[in-house]
This record gives sequence, C-alpha cells and structure tokens, in this order.
Amino acid sequence: MAKQYRITLLPGDGIGPEIMSVAVSVLKEIGQQLNLQFTFQEAPIGGAAIDLTGDPLPSESLETCRNSDAVLLAAIGGFKWDTLPSHQRPERGLLGLRAGLGLFANLRPAKILPQLVDASSLKRDIVEGVDIMVVRELTGGVYFGQPKGIFTTETGEKRGVNTMAYTESEIERIGRVAFEAARKRQGRLCSVDKANVLEVSQLWRDRITQLSQEYPDVELSHMYVDNAAMQLVRYPKQFDTIVTGNLFGDILSDAAAMLTGSIGMLPSASLGASGPGVFEPVHGSAPDIAGQDKANPIAQVLSAAMMLRYGLNEPEASDRIEQAVLKVLDQGYRTGDIMSPGMTLVGCQAMGEALLKAL
Ligand code: NAD
Repeated sequence: MAKQYRITLLPGDGIGPEIMSVAVSVLKEIGQQLNLQFTFQEAPIGGAAIDLTGDPLPSESLETCRNSDAVLLAAIGGFKWDTLPSHQRPERGLLGLRAGLGLFANLRPAKILPQLVDASSLKRDIVEGVDIMVVRELTGGVYFGQPKGIFTTETGEKRGVNTMAYTESEIERIGRVAFEAARKRQGRLCSVDKANVLEVSQLWRDRITQLSQEYPDVELSHMYVDNAAMQLVRYPKQFDTIVTGNLFGDILSDAAAMLTGSIGMLPSASLGASGPGVFEPVHGSAPDIAGQDKANPIAQVLSAAMMLRYGLNEPEASDRIEQAVLKVLDQGYRTGDIMSPGMTLVGCQAMGEALLKAL
C-alpha cells in the first residue's frame, strides 16, 4: 500500500504561488514513482491572508498546519502591506507559525553545485565541493532572553539590555537535531560558541560534549565563533555540519549561504520536538519579479526535497529530486538570477517542465 502523507501548502505572496506550483508537480511525480501518496491542503498566510481575513496567520491556517505531516511554505510579504502597523504585517504570520509549531531548530544547507561555482564571490578552488549544513537554535538565546529592553539608569542615561541565556534542555534538544543531521551527512559536527568569554557558551560546550557520548559515530569538534567566521571564508570545505545558538547561527548561516552566490537556490527547514516541520526557501517573495514567470523555482523544489529527507524520512525521494536539479543545470537551463553566457534562459514554468522531464 502507498505511504500516505498530508502536506500543508502555504504559497503566500509574490512569486510564492508560481514556485509552489512547480514544487507540487515535482512532488506528484516523485509520489507516483515511489508509491507515496500526498494529500495537499492549501492555507493562506502573510499578505494573502491579510487580504482575505485581516490576519497574517488565521487560526484555521495554523490548525491546518498542525494537522499535517509537514508544511511546505513559499514566501510572504510585499510592497502592498509595507505600511501596515507591525503587528498586522505579513512577517507576523511567519513568527506566529514558528511559535505555534514550536520550531526551535533551523537547518540551512549551503551546497555549491558544480554547475554554479562561478556564481560565488570567492575563488573556485576555495568553494568547489563545499557542502555545509548550519543547524541554528531558533527560539532561545539573546533574541528571547530576559531581561530585555531599554531602561533609564539612576543618572538618567538610557541603557539597552538583552540577555543571552540557554538552559541545559534547550541545548540538548538542538544538539540532538544536529547530531542526527550530521549522521545523515558525513558524520562530522562542529559546535560553534564563544566559551572563552561567555558563561552561557561554557554550558553550551559542556552539554554538547556530554551529548556526543550518545553519538559515537559522529566526530565532534568545537570552534569559537570569531574563528568560525574566518574559517568559513578561508577554507569552508573543512565543515560538514555546524551547530550553534540563535545569534551566531543567524550570522553564520547567511555567510555560509552566500558562499553559493545564488539566493534562488537555497532551501531551509525548521523543526520542532514533535509535529510537522516547515520547509521553505531562504529567499523572500521577490515582488519585483512576481507574476512575470521569471522566478527560479529551484529553492522551493529543494525545500520539498528537504521536507522528504528531514520531515518525512524519505531519503530516496529526496535524492531523486536533488539529482533532477543537477541534471537540468547540466543541461544548461538557467532562470535569470543564475544566468551565464552560453546557457539557455528559461522562465519558472519551463524550469518546472525541465525538472519533470529530468525526474
Ligand atoms: P527577496 O529575497 O524577496 O528578493 C531579493 C532579490 O532576489 C530580488 O531582486 C528578487 O527578485 C531576487 N530573488 C529572490 N528570490 C528569487 C527567486 N526565487 N528567483 C529569482 N530571483 C529571486 O528579498 P527582499 O526583496 O528583501 O524582500 C521582498 C519581500 O519578501 C519583503 O516583503 C520581505 O519582507 C519578504 N521576505 C520574506 C521572507 C520569507 O518569506 N521567509 C524572507 C525574506 C524576505
């Protein structure tokens, strides 16, 4: 009997619906090939939801997400909603989704595809072969720690405060996600902290080291965050999987992503302790090219591949999709954002058709 999966689709705004439609046709095709039965349910989020209901994340949308095996999100936002007060902005929908599903782990791969090496701002011999996964803690650390705020001191001077705090259990749960991710990759995990200066990082390092005893097959190393930033641009090939806290991960995952040089190619995953994960491209809703059949659907398609690998544990389906992406790039098909001389310029739909053919 076919394995059944219920997938919530959140196309959102801008190029969202265009790239989502490509990802769905790819999922349908892979489902047929591998006898996986996907039931898709679509729900509004972001600006599209504001237009329909006045709320960037209607409770029905969150409920639909909760009642599924995985959530595939495209992107939200656009000029039209930029002047709304902050609590009504499309971005609130994303924050509400992360909080509502308890998504504490963010997985951001940065893989240099051989066909796009020259899109990187770094030299070919430095980036060729780079394949990094950054696992970032998403719901703790200095972005959420208390106390926080801008206070007035006794002398009348203003003082801004944020608190970097992690409990052992918060470190342990992100650590487990990272060790498991490393296991599915090359089995090397580098934990990044600032344990030479910060007590919170000392606890982080101790707890991750303890946890490593449960994962003897994963080789653990530690690195200070300032050194990690340097090493990422000096010799990025040394990294396999990186695990780090919210602030360091925010910065390092963007730096790692940019090694690839192409925002239209980058997927991501956000996972919780149980329940569905959310899989989405790193890029936004690209309102400047929305509705023009110019968007690159590959980040969305690779997000669907991540959903299969990390959300539904279907590695074979994920592998096949990733192979199809490599194949269409080998065949020379490029959307505008990754176009280079001698290649064939295609739109979003044609790229989708090429992917289906390659599958
Ligand atoms: P963006 O990522 O949408 O676009 C940046 C540039 O990259 C644009 O020139 C765009 O055309 C291009 N681009 C992005 N994705 C592309 C793709 N798949 N194919 C081809 N070109 C692509 O970032 P922005 O312009 O800063 O933001 C636009 C809107 O998206 C804003 O409302 C912002 O708040 C929102 N946003 C949403 C998310 C999200 O949904 N997770 C993330 C970032 C930004």
